[in-house]
Amino acid sequence: MKATQIAELLNEPACSHNDSKEKAGCARPKPGATAGGCSFDGAQIALLPIADVAHIVHGPIACAGSSWDNRGTKTTGPTLFKIGMTTDLTEQDVIMGRGEKRLFHAIKQAIDDYHPAAVFVYATCVTALIGDDMEAVCKAAQKHYGVPVVPVDCAGFYGTKNLGNRIAGEAMLKYVIGTREPDPVPAAAQRPGIQVHDISLIGEYNIAGEFFHVLPLFDELGLRILGTLSGDARFAEVQTMHRAEASMVVCAKALLNVARKVEEQWGVPWFEGSFYGVADVSHALREFARLLNDPDLTARTEALIAREEAKADAALAPWRERLKGKRVLLYTGGVKSWSIVSALQDLGMTVVATGTKKSTEEDKARIRELMGPDVNMIDDGSPKALLSTYKDLRADILIAGGRNLYTALKARIPFLDINQEREFGYAGYAGMEELARQLALTMESPVWAKVKKPAPWATPQVGTPLTV
Ligand code: SF4
Repeated sequence: MKATQIAELLNEPACSHNDSKEKAGCARPKPGATAGGCSFDGAQIALLPIADVAHIVHGPIACAGSSWDNRGTKTTGPTLFKIGMTTDLTEQDVIMGRGEKRLFHAIKQAIDDYHPAAVFVYATCVTALIGDDMEAVCKAAQKHYGVPVVPVDCAGFYGTKNLGNRIAGEAMLKYVIGTREPDPVPAAAQRPGIQVHDISLIGEYNIAGEFFHVLPLFDELGLRILGTLSGDARFAEVQTMHRAEASMVVCAKALLNVARKVEEQWGVPWFEGSFYGVADVSHALREFARLLNDPDLTARTEALIAREEAKADAALAPWRERLKGKRVLLYTGGVKSWSIVSALQDLGMTVVATGTKKSTEEDKARIRELMGPDVNMIDDGSPKALLSTYKDLRADILIAGGRNLYTALKARIPFLDINQEREFGYAGYAGMEELARQLALTMESPVWAKVKKPAPWATPQVGTPLTV
């Protein structure tokens, strides 16, 4: 990838980072900035949930990492995406210049063994540095086997994980979106008097199957999801996303380039939204009705929102009782730093501080709106800083990403995983109840009282005979 192409991706005009006069685009990566995710990692996690694709990492085995199901995303169909495939380059391959040959062979093996709908090939630092012409190999393999083979030029040293997400989006724009027309709405999915609208979702990953909480609402409203990038997606669906009548960028700035370019090229309007918290789900449904400009849909959407909000209120009432007044230290990034705040406040909890390391100025403004001007925003996510904030602000639970799990366990404090490795889905009205349940179960677990007690052998009673 050329330096100009990288600069262009870092300077996404639809991103609110670019509104500021002082700051244009994303910051250039500093040494060490890829710790916690390089561009390769970002590109791969953005596309891995496309379930019927063979995802091949072209590079040394270490880039592919622990390969089985390395994204906590659920599918209703094929599970091919869970298999980690790699060309597993060694020093010998690098010295002997065998990278391209190995790649061609890996594509052949993936097609012969798994018959995928397509093959995606991800570049890594090593293959970019030795100059493998991945694009040419993919083109030759596609011609030879008659299966789409998509190169994703995402060498780790290009920059951050966020940039990798955008590179993945660019690959979809260049090779996939717009290459097929959608099938007509099947007769079984049509309902008399209801016009079916086609929509798409960008940046929705179906983590822990959470989108299954939201999907029935779209079905009921007659909104057909043509394709998602990329939760529970199929290759053929992503090909048709250009025909959506409206699109939503879900909880992520990273794929704004896809939404903007699909709008520029095919005129698909879009909005940014979130499915976390009752108010945000209702807002997202209303935004679709507004963009689709169908009065009947608007009326049905309002009726559905009224019904679902009442149902959610009733379901949440007992949990609100248990969670009322509990204090939360939230350490997550980006949009989640405020979208989860509103969900927690809705449960009657107090968010004592929120992490804003990856948040934009716009995200911070939303946080101030929700938590007041004197809100504690924390940038330092080191274990020491998190634990001292937890103690100083008398928090009852730490909600953060999986990498903070052991910080919490070692400190013996209640912890809830909010990032992509989690086991439970919190999206939609039903997801909100799941969130409340998990919060209550975590905080009320009897284990905390037990592990905080001194160990029996740590405080021997004077005069107590030693028993073996
Ligand atoms: S692509 Fe580069 S930075 Fe990323 S894991 Fe591989 S070697 Fe490391």
